[in-house]
Amino acid sequence: MEQYPSQLLTSAVDEFSKLPGIGRKTALRLTLHLLRQEPERAIHLGESLIRLRKEVRYCKCCHNLSDTDLCQICANPKRDASTICVVENVKEVMAIEATRQFQGLYHVLGGLISPMDGVSPQQLEIDSLLERIRQGQADGHTPVNEVILALSTTMEGDLTNGYIFKQLVRFPDLKVTTLALGVSVGDEIEYADSVTLGRSILNRTPYANTFQNNK
Ligand SMILES: [Zn+2]
Repeated sequence: MEQYPSQLLTSAVDEFSKLPGIGRKTALRLTLHLLRQEPERAIHLGESLIRLRKEVRYCKCCHNLSDTDLCQICANPKRDASTICVVENVKEVMAIEATRQFQGLYHVLGGLISPMDGVSPQQLEIDSLLERIRQGQADGHTPVNEVILALSTTMEGDLTNGYIFKQLVRFPDLKVTTLALGVSVGDEIEYADSVTLGRSILNRTPYANTFQNNK
């Protein structure tokens, strides 16, 4: 391994090179770059990372990333609380928000059911989704009318869709939909382009029909 003239330099290079896609050469270049900058730049970087790690949390309602207990989307009174879009991760929230076509709220599962990887429904935010819908039926709350299943069309995504759909049957007035077919098939939705994704949200179809039509 390379010999660096300073222990502190070595330690900074070590830390940078732990990041994905950063080899030791790039790590050294970044470290030397920071040393050439005004001290405030590096201090600001360090402080923003510390605050990020200490203060960012998961929204207590939808489990999106947030600086506050309730994320900006859940806290926005203009959003339509009667529609909940179920997504795998925070990245999908960002992709759907970028389309500007969806006015409802989200529910971030934090993964997909995967027997292969040992991920069970209990490890995901599925119970909290059911609880949200249940609470919506209580007095003084906005009832949830529609749940959009916007998971990837992988085997795990299908499995998770099916599991959630079965749980939702207990709410007879609830509409369960999915993104328009032919859009996200075989793709993670975060990779779909914004216009296509936006269209597939507007043209969503009843979930059960996706079996019957099998288009
Ligand atoms: Zn939220």
